[in-house]
Amino acid sequence: MKKTPYSRLFEPVKIGPVVTKNRFYQVPHCCGMGHQRPQAHAAMRALKAKGGWGVVSTEESEIHPTSDLSPYVEQRIWDKRDIPALSLMTEAVHEHGALAAIELAHNGNHAANLYSRLPVISPVSQSIDLVYPKQTRRMNKKDIAEFRRWHRNAALNAKAAGFDIIYVYAGHGMTLTQEFLLPEINDRTDEYGGSIENRVRLTRELLEETKDAVGDTCAVAFRFAVDELKGSDGMQFFEEGRAVVEMLAEIPDLWDVNVSDWANDSQTSRFEPNEGYQIPYVEFVKSITTKPVVGVGRLTSPDLMVSLIERGALDLIGAARPSIADPYLPNKIKAGKTDQIKECIGCNICVSSDNFAVPIRCTQNPTMGEEWRRGWDPESIKPKKTDQKALVIGSGPSGLECTMQLARRGYHVTLAEADNKLGGRVLFESGLKGLSAWKRVSDNRIYEIQQKNNIEIYKESELTLSHINELGINNIFLATGSSWRKDGVGRSRRKPVQGLDSLQVLTPEEAIKQSPNLSGPIVVYDDEQGYLAGVIADHLSVDEHEVIFITPASVVSPWTESTLEQKRIQKALLVSGVNVICNKTIDKAEGSNLNLKCVFTGEISLLKCSSLVMVTERIPNTTLYDQLVEQENNTEQGEAKHIQLIGDAESPGLIADAVFLGHLAAQSFEESEQEIQKAMFMREMPSLK
Ligand code: ADP
Ligand code: SF4
Repeated sequence: MKKTPYSRLFEPVKIGPVVTKNRFYQVPHCCGMGHQRPQAHAAMRALKAKGGWGVVSTEESEIHPTSDLSPYVEQRIWDKRDIPALSLMTEAVHEHGALAAIELAHNGNHAANLYSRLPVISPVSQSIDLVYPKQTRRMNKKDIAEFRRWHRNAALNAKAAGFDIIYVYAGHGMTLTQEFLLPEINDRTDEYGGSIENRVRLTRELLEETKDAVGDTCAVAFRFAVDELKGSDGMQFFEEGRAVVEMLAEIPDLWDVNVSDWANDSQTSRFEPNEGYQIPYVEFVKSITTKPVVGVGRLTSPDLMVSLIERGALDLIGAARPSIADPYLPNKIKAGKTDQIKECIGCNICVSSDNFAVPIRCTQNPTMGEEWRRGWDPESIKPKKTDQKALVIGSGPSGLECTMQLARRGYHVTLAEADNKLGGRVLFESGLKGLSAWKRVSDNRIYEIQQKNNIEIYKESELTLSHINELGINNIFLATGSSWRKDGVGRSRRKPVQGLDSLQVLTPEEAIKQSPNLSGPIVVYDDEQGYLAGVIADHLSVDEHEVIFITPASVVSPWTESTLEQKRIQKALLVSGVNVICNKTIDKAEGSNLNLKCVFTGEISLLKCSSLVMVTERIPNTTLYDQLVEQENNTEQGEAKHIQLIGDAESPGLIADAVFLGHLAAQSFEESEQEIQKAMFMREMPSLK
């Protein structure tokens, strides 16, 4: 290979008995496919291998029915019956010259065993780590011996399934092995508790036994959280975290190191904007072991990757989210096409899908999770069927994605945007506190669109029906977005709030625009219960406004539990001095007072309000679409037009939803119903044997 600034990233690395062809390492990550959707899983992992990742790992893989994570859909290697499904992945990954890794996991008190109904086990008797009134059984010596046997069997089965790298896993605040390591949990007085030597004993045994069982042909990796980011209340990388590494230094063939828990490991860009944010915690590991070290931290920049290798911080560039946002990241770097990398925006929509137990999705990469059931690939799309032209109206995430994909298919596309900038809602949202990385959604697409010679872009062009008729393009995609309503209609009420005329009522966009001139107290009313109201309140509080956050929910931004951000959001508001009032709806307004109603008792309380920001629901902008359809219905002859609403104009939702709907529209354009149906619903049917 010709030497380039990034050549070091493509050097092979020996990991125990196996060798990875390069330093790109897709660390284990959840995907909502696991044991329930093995074909989807294999195809998704295979695509990473095709995209150039040297190692491709599974998600956490339950080793036994006492580690049953239902209703979450993770991987399973309970016994030999799981081997065929897992082999689908290893074979598919090997086809592209990558190594396949499996993260063996026992989730201790984090696995509620709701499917298997077995007792939950843990080093101590404690409440399980889910809101469920159930406690663990304290493991006795026999349980520990059994657990070691299950782990060994799982390793043997993993080898039989064709895996090259087999993990022992103590991380994320949700593994049995980590529970044994942590003094704040493990208060045992036997040889598995007390001193650090005793608490490390089980991990050491697992590592040695796994090596003994499969180490002749498989590498044994240890995934270990060196710091819990709890200060002196938890494990710290310069104290016990370091001590554990020192005690086990040469035993594993590979150290995969990160911080714990999951909300710390997968921090969003809103709260941790820095790429490589975990490096300060994990870089010490290389000074202690001669074995290769992999680390993560939303690494997307090839220059940073090279510098991490050169300065000896890591041997392998670990990635979960960057590999989801762009499975072809390694190949793009290799081909010198770094400008084409679709960078992860750190929004954790991928994480949310796992938390909802559905197949993975990604804001930046609408093809993620669709490799098998829809046959999608982020870098290739079927060519156009005819020489038809297309008009896309609106350049938000949906319009941009639809334009880009139609153009990739070879269609000539005209993109019209009313504003003087492209980007739609992304322009607004990425200007809010903490969300600047979200701009990558529009930046990456606009960049590609500008490279193409089959796209005409018209900015400052608010199209009307007569403009569209003048253009004479018969295929029209309306990505005209949606508008926040101001009448208070939302989840909690379907009728407008009375008396709002006496107040200054604002949409989120108006509130931010007018922020310097707003008088307090400013009430942000969140009956959407997603992420936006929390961001608006946080943003407004910076201008030293008196901000009051009111929601019928019992916490701020409840949906963001799924993106692992809820606690950080509520903390941010409280620290900024925002007055948070939960469990209240706005019943009506009277003069400068809001009547708040308790969602439980109906009791009314009064609150002074000067400006009211409504974040309740959006109205899809369909006027133009309705006019087009009406015109079409009244036209007797002529060629039938393709008129399609996409994105928020069709169904207001997340940016990820808008991108997806734009992508789906471009993929489905000029496909017959039969083809669309086939592509839409390849499903994995249970075997009835
Ligand atoms: P989505 O999330 O579905 O992509 P957005 O709200 O982000 O939707 O973007 C909608 C975009 O459509 C906005 O930039 C808006 O200016 C543009 N738009 C709406 N109506 C028209 C129109 N009639 N002509 C041109 N652009 C329009
Ligand atoms: Fe990154 Fe968001 Fe995609 Fe996850 S969903 S990989 S955080 S862009």
